[in-house]
Amino acid sequence: MNIHEYQAKTLLKKYGVAVPDGIAAMSVDDAVKAAGQLPGPLYVVKAQIHAGGRGAGKFKNNPAGKGGVRLCKTADEVKAAAEAMLGQVLVTKQTGPEGKEVQRLYVTDGVDIKKEYYCSVVLDRATSRVTFMASTEGGMDIEEVAEKHPEKIIKVAIDPVAGFQPYHARQLAFALGFEGAANKSAIKFFTALYKAFVELDASIVEINPLIVTDKDEVVALDAKMNFDDNALFRQTEVAAMRDESEEDEKETIAKNYDLSYVALDGNIGCMVNGAGLAMATMDIIKLYGGEPANFLDVGGGANKEKVTAAFKIILADPKVKGVLVNIFGGIMKCDIIAEGIIAAAKEVSLAVPLVVRLEGTNVEQGKQILSQSGLAIIPADNLADAARKVVEATRQALAA
Ligand code: ADP
Ligand code: MG
Repeated sequence: MNIHEYQAKTLLKKYGVAVPDGIAAMSVDDAVKAAGQLPGPLYVVKAQIHAGGRGAGKFKNNPAGKGGVRLCKTADEVKAAAEAMLGQVLVTKQTGPEGKEVQRLYVTDGVDIKKEYYCSVVLDRATSRVTFMASTEGGMDIEEVAEKHPEKIIKVAIDPVAGFQPYHARQLAFALGFEGAANKSAIKFFTALYKAFVELDASIVEINPLIVTDKDEVVALDAKMNFDDNALFRQTEVAAMRDESEEDEKETIAKNYDLSYVALDGNIGCMVNGAGLAMATMDIIKLYGGEPANFLDVGGGANKEKVTAAFKIILADPKVKGVLVNIFGGIMKCDIIAEGIIAAAKEVSLAVPLVVRLEGTNVEQGKQILSQSGLAIIPADNLADAARKVVEATRQALAA
């Protein structure tokens, strides 16, 4: 799960990570009030969307104007910035061309920046260790630095048993060239950042830029945090920060029905039980020249409600021109699944070809129920047969 910058900074501050003062604002009035509560003389008004690159982004209604991070010198300028941003669609490198509507702002202290750096904490799957990545090339596109100057990104992996040690902090501070007061401040910063990452069950914390101020303090000027969904049950404060308006609507509905759904770019909708079978189904669709529109695991105990919800989610995607249902009746019997499919297909008035492959307990009854349903269901005998049929039916639907 992702959260907004202002939420990440609220969490990080509790752990002792230095951040500039700031106040979230949902309206222009809020923003002006926030400026009144900050010391000034500089304010920065920042669009809060779940995407980076806001500073260099462009508003759709005013592509020649300023982006989603604006420096202001007076409350009037804060007001003008808030008016220009709220309710408008911001397009950045990370939003895709459709952009994201700005519904929240963050009004923060303008800080005097001596130099910008990059720092992130991630779980490195190759070493299975929480790993710091840091670079003197901050503020800009870190992907570009990684590509052109990989030597400018240093990595420090943390042993999970021993945990974060003072020498890790010194190693990072040294690599970034911090000295004196900035060095002391950096060591405190990295130590607090690690504690926040682990205790909040984060999967990513990215600080870009990390800065040194004119007073030699190390401060997080931007903050992106991502959390392990499976840990949200014990992170109530984090879970409450969810902003559903920022998430893919289909993925939100799927979550509410406890379905594992990931939208993809293809045109063949897939409904499968079991994550492994779902992966195999996507693979075999590709093998036969098709492109899956989604990953969807309805789970072992899929019932009629779940199957209906899954159908609705799949068909809500206008790209979907064919559907493949691939269910193994283990815990659930095939006849029950067949009834669920028929009920769901009727309820959503299915208008694209539907290929169904059932296997497992009561498979013969299940197939019979499907064939007697009067629905134009294309039955398949095995996985390869199903993939071939759905790819062909989708091709024909596209050509029609
Ligand atoms: P994004 O990464 O989405 O563009 P950032 O928060 O990193 O947004 O802001 C972009 C740039 O704006 C920063 O690299 C920094 O130069 C400047 N900036 C952001 N916040 C402040 C602030 N509080 N004070 C001064 N400059 C800031
Ligand atoms: Mg940034």
